[in-house]
Formats: sequence, structure tokens, C-alpha cells
Amino acid sequence: MAKGVLVIFDQNNGEIRHVVLEMLTVARSLGDGPVTALTFGKDARNTLAKLAEYGAEQVLFWDGDAYARYSSDGFAAAIAEAVPELGPDVILFPATAWGKDLSARLAGVLKAGLATDCLHLEAGEDGRVKAVRPVYAGKALAEVTVNTPVQMFSLRPNVNAAVPAPATPEILNIAPAVDSAAFQAVVVERNEAQGGVLELTEADIIVSGGRGIKAPENFKLLDDMAQALGAAVGSSRPVADEGWVPHSYHIGQTGKVVSPTVYFAVGISGAIQHLAGISGSKYIVAINSDPEAPIFKVANYGIVGDLFQVVPRLTEEIKTVKAQQ
Ligand SMILES: Cc1cc2nc3c(=O)[nH]c(=O)nc-3n(C[C@H](O)[C@H](O)[C@H](O)COP(=O)(O)OP(=O)(O)OC[C@H]3O[C@@H](n4cnc5c(N)ncnc54)[C@H](O)[C@@H]3O)c2cc1C
Repeated sequence: MAKGVLVIFDQNNGEIRHVVLEMLTVARSLGDGPVTALTFGKDARNTLAKLAEYGAEQVLFWDGDAYARYSSDGFAAAIAEAVPELGPDVILFPATAWGKDLSARLAGVLKAGLATDCLHLEAGEDGRVKAVRPVYAGKALAEVTVNTPVQMFSLRPNVNAAVPAPATPEILNIAPAVDSAAFQAVVVERNEAQGGVLELTEADIIVSGGRGIKAPENFKLLDDMAQALGAAVGSSRPVADEGWVPHSYHIGQTGKVVSPTVYFAVGISGAIQHLAGISGSKYIVAINSDPEAPIFKVANYGIVGDLFQVVPRLTEEIKTVKAQQ
């Protein structure tokens, strides 16, 4: 059983990602020690109500000027200073771009083992957490333990349930004095995705297009279907490499790893490198004109047909059904 779990995450204007609630739920299951949440930046305190709702017993808000802009080396140095005082034996991060960046840096500073992109964690023997994580591009699952005194894990979003467990968190005033020289690389600007684009790693439904879509203007078909469903739009890698869609759409081994409830693979062949990013989907629906396309081997539902005929009809059906609800 863990003696204490430190949950570290980013926030934006006081908003936190759903994965943070999943992390708090998992943290509570790991032991009897306190679950401590740590976040950064100006609006950090606005997250308090959510943290309380999901069972954080202690919170740290590092909202001073030093933490206004993200710096992986600066933040890692500060957390490493505070860890001995906080005394967690388990540290959790979200397996998001931010979490992947900071967790690796912190693991290096703490000389702690880090298991990345974990699907499940459970309390094991002797205070060791048993983690399950994908290996070989998602073809197999490995059970791992981390054998350093501080055990670090990052959790894949959308895999674990978020279960409320109201608590009254104590606000801790532990603020390490970190030399500003530690903040060597600092994020100076953030560009938000435009027009209410849903974040792929958190989306419940994803409509994703591959080379079968044939031209960038044809992505409009997928945008329309996604809008009807309230879904996010993604793509295979060649489509992003061609510049048909932004690189932020790219899903797979070298792109984003997603775990939606439903993943529509439209004109995507199902190469192993693409499957590596979608194996956490609960249902895969393939639309492809080639009945031999490998995507059908992993799809729960398949439509063999020309996407230019299938997708508009599907979109109309979805709109009709939605209108009746
Ligand atoms: C090191 C490495 C890393 C990689 N990482 C990634 C990654 O992260 N993500 C990724 O996606 N790829 C990745 N790739 C590339 C991967 O190997 C495949 O080349 C790629 O996934 C294929 O993309 P696609 O399915 O869109 O295109 P294709 O393989 O060309 O498939 C297009 C599909 O569209 C279908 N189609 C064509 N016309 C229609 C139509 N009118 N209606 C319906 N269906 C139609 C075809 O039958 C075909 O199945 C990586 C490759 C390497 C070597």
C-alpha cells in the first residue's frame, strides 16, 4: 500500500482535464496515505472545488510568478525540492504532452523509475504499485513494478473511471525556493486550437481520416460527420505529413494515443503504427472500400464501401436520429 500519492497536473484558466479526476480516483485506491494534488499557474486555486469533489486530501497551488509559464527544468527542480518534505512514495502524472515532458525530467532529477502511459495501477506487495502498460506498439500488455524508493507513473487519459469521493482538502504552504537559473527553458507563448476543436486524447468519439480521403478538401465530409456526432477529428500520419490537416490530428505510434468510446477509421488501412494509437478504443468502426484492409481485423463494426457514398449518408442518418432525441 502506498504511503502517500502525489498527483501532479497542469491547469488552464482553472480548468482541469478529465484525466486528473481519473488520476485522483486511482490515487485513492493505492493506499491509505494522503492523496496530494499539485498544480501550477495563476488560476491554480480555481481547481480546488473539483479536487475536493474527487478526494484530494492535500493540495499545493504554486501560483506565484515563477510558475506563470511552464518550464520543465524549473518545475522539475522545484518538485524535487519539495518531495522529501511531502514524502510521497508514488507520483502520478497524466500521459499528456505536458505530463510526458515533466515526468521524464523529474524522474531524471529524482533518480526515480518511471512507468509511462499506464492503463491500470493497483496496490501490490510491499508498497510496490503494480502497473499495466502497453508494449510493442500496443500488441501486448506488460505488468511492471518500479523498484526505486519513489515510484513514478503516467496514466493514459480516458481509460480509468473518475469516481467522486468528496473530501475537505488542506491547502499546504510548501513552496520551495528554487533558483531562477533552474528555469532555463520557458514556454513563452501558447496557441490554442481554433474554433472549439475537441482535444483528441480526451474525446469520447473520434472520426479519423486516412489517405482514402484523397484530397484535403474532402476532410469537410469528416468535419460534418464529427459535428453531427459531437466528435473530434483525427487522421493517419501520411495525411498530416501531406499537410492536409494539422499535425495535431496525427494518431498512432508517432502521434497521439487515443482511447475514445468510438473510433471511426475512414479510408485508413490499419497499419500497425496507426493501430498503436487506437488500441485503447472501446469500439472501432471501419469504413473502407477494400474488404481485405487490415483495419477490419481489429474493427468491431465494418462497412465495406466507398467512403464518399457512405459518410454523407451516415451523417444524414446521425442528424435524423439526433433530431428525434
Ligand atoms: C516508424 C514509422 C512510424 C509511423 N507512425 C505512424 C503513426 O503514428 N500513425 C500512422 O497513421 N501511421 C504511421 N506510420 C505510417 C504507417 O505505416 C502507414 O503508412 C499509414 O498508417 C497508412 O496511412 P493510411 O491508412 O491513411 O493510408 P493507406 O495505407 O494508403 O490506406 C488508405 C486506405 O484507404 C482505403 N480507401 C481508398 N479509397 C477509399 C474510398 N473511396 N473509400 C473507402 N476507403 C478507401 C484503401 O482501401 C486503404 O485501405 C508510420 C510508419 C513508420 C515507418
